[in-house]
Amino acid sequence: MKEGLLVVISGASGTGKGTVCASLFKEEAKLAFSVSATTRSPREGEVDGVNYYFLSKEKFEEMIEAGEFLEWAKVYDNYYGTPLKKVKERLKNGEDVLLEIDVQGALNVMKLMPDGVFIFLLPPSMEELERRIKGRGTETEESLKKRLGAAKAEIALGEKYTYIVVNDTVDKAVSDIRAILAAERLKTIRNAECFEELGR
Ligand code: 5GP
Repeated sequence: MKEGLLVVISGASGTGKGTVCASLFKEEAKLAFSVSATTRSPREGEVDGVNYYFLSKEKFEEMIEAGEFLEWAKVYDNYYGTPLKKVKERLKNGEDVLLEIDVQGALNVMKLMPDGVFIFLLPPSMEELERRIKGRGTETEESLKKRLGAAKAEIALGEKYTYIVVNDTVDKAVSDIRAILAAERLKTIRNAECFEELGR
């Protein structure tokens, strides 16, 4: 059984990761979302076990101690982490798994799983990014400033990723990501059995 692809997508707050990933899942039937754990409270409409596993700080710290995360990070004063067991199982079963995580977490995954596909999503411009964050209407003036500052710092680390996708329109970003996935699936290293089947 061929192992699935581990796909990591990051992008600064307001880049539109959520929308792009939702649209990507509709078109990529083989792609599974890795549900992260977090200590932040659910936003309206978010469902435990679907969007996130919403945990207490104590439970999260217990899981860190027990080595149950592939990676974890503190983002805006809350913990976020990727449960390890499910990701491993799915990859082993040949499923492609998508992690939508922040830059700190992604940098750790790069060290642990360098065969992963690391995609950084950029906004078309800083002005557009600010407009999108404001447009959400969920931010106070203070949290807006914090998010914009964090966004700049995150964007600076985007150079460490293998691929850059500009989210100008969702359709174009999704088609760029699908092109990356198609090429990754065709890599020689992932298709050794083709040679075996041909008797070489
Ligand atoms: P939000 O609270 O808006 O859902 O997410 C805040 C940030 O946490 C986003 O940048 C998101 O990608 C990141 N995030 C979500 N899940 C994880 C995770 O499991 N690990 C890490 N490192 N970051 C995550």
